[in-house]
Amino acid sequence: MTRLNTDPEKWGDEAYFCDACEKPFRTPMFDISKGYERTIYDGNRMPEVEIIGSGTIAQYCSDPCRVKKISAVLAKENVRATYPDIGPVEACSRCGKPVDMTKFHLTYVDSDTEQDWDRMCATVTKTVVLAVLCDACAPPPQRLIAETDFPVSIKSEDLPPREYLKVD
Ligand SMILES: [Zn+2]
Ligand SMILES: [Zn+2]
Repeated sequence: MTRLNTDPEKWGDEAYFCDACEKPFRTPMFDISKGYERTIYDGNRMPEVEIIGSGTIAQYCSDPCRVKKISAVLAKENVRATYPDIGPVEACSRCGKPVDMTKFHLTYVDSDTEQDWDRMCATVTKTVVLAVLCDACAPPPQRLIAETDFPVSIKSEDLPPREYLKVD
């Protein structure tokens, strides 16, 4: 069938378009997304990250295309890439105030994913935390938290290690 076709001319609707170079692509995807996250520290196990209301805000065909656009995309959100550490307390990427990483807070991440077009699913191969926002800058919607009976809880063993880049 056409699924495995490598000729972009024949992809039709079954492709993404890069937000930087506008080239059609299928996999892997390099994206920037935002969502509300919290870190659950549980004694001696690796911390878990709980994510609600996450959505992609930009998608790219390659890492260089994404790198070119990260600051512009975040600037539109009035945020800087500060590459926060894992917590428990980090500085807000807008105002510098403390962010309690154990409570839901707005988080910007970039992720590399392998897209499986046949099964319509994606596997995250790498994520980097770009920015976090404090309660004053981006209060997490209480409704969203209340309505999420079963937040996506991802055990860190099931995820590729998050990269927390220190830029000192
Ligand atoms: Zn591109
Ligand atoms: Zn703030």
